[in-house]
Order: sequence, then structure tokens, then C-alpha cells
Amino acid sequence: MSWNYKYKDLLKKAYKNLPKLSKTTERFNIPKIEGRFEGNRTVVSNINQIAKQLSREKNHIIRFLVKELATTGENKGKLYYFIGKFNSKRINEKIEKYTKDYVLCSQCNKPDTKLIRTKGITFKQCEACGARTSVRQIK
Ligand SMILES: [Zn+2]
Repeated sequence: MSWNYKYKDLLKKAYKNLPKLSKTTERFNIPKIEGRFEGNRTVVSNINQIAKQLSREKNHIIRFLVKELATTGENKGKLYYFIGKFNSKRINEKIEKYTKDYVLCSQCNKPDTKLIRTKGITFKQCEACGARTSVRQIK
């Protein structure tokens, strides 16, 4: 094993240990849901991972989805149950919309943003380029 090889390996490891969204230069992949139907409900089993990948509050994402899908639902442990049958394509489109609206910077398109609230207005603050845009409130 050459020194170079080891070094590359170390680098790889170091990158792996970095927080997911931090200063990434790779294309950001919008997470996809894992779901299934259960009777008249749609169960999503990876909402926690999605929230983690997007660095957003799970409840914020759920409020958005419930509103967009015009339904209600409930948490059961790691699962989220939507009332009604929604195919994964439809939910993924909503996750994409959420990501564009609330995660990706509208200036540089990077995911290194956070939501901040000032004077009742929520802003998407980009830590990569410094842009700040107001975002719609989810009631
Ligand atoms: Zn930016």
C-alpha cells in the first residue's frame, strides 16, 4: 500500500465524518421517501432520515406535506401515517418542492442554509453565499 493510497483513504474517511450538508461541492440529492399503503393510509418509514438529510425539523416537513397533500396524519414512533393513499411519486414531488422552498439557497442553490425567524418572518439564510430570502410560513 503506497503512502498516497493511504492518504487518499484517510481523506475519504475524513470527508465521511463531516456533517452531511456542510460545505458540500457534490450535487445535493433530494431524499426520497420510503412508504407503503396500509388500508386507507400511507405510511412513511423514513421521515426522520429525510429530516436529518435536509437539516430541518421533522414537524416542519410534516406540516408542509400535510398541507400540500390536503390531509392529516399522525406520528407513531418512527413512522408517519398520512390519511389517504398517496403514491410515493406524489410525496416525493412534495419533498422536492419543500427542498427547493426551504432548504436550497435561492441564489447559489446550495443546501447549506438554515431557517431563522425574525419579527414573525421566516428567512432562509445561506451559510455558503450569505443570501437571505424570506420563505412562506407553514401554518
Ligand atoms: Zn447561497
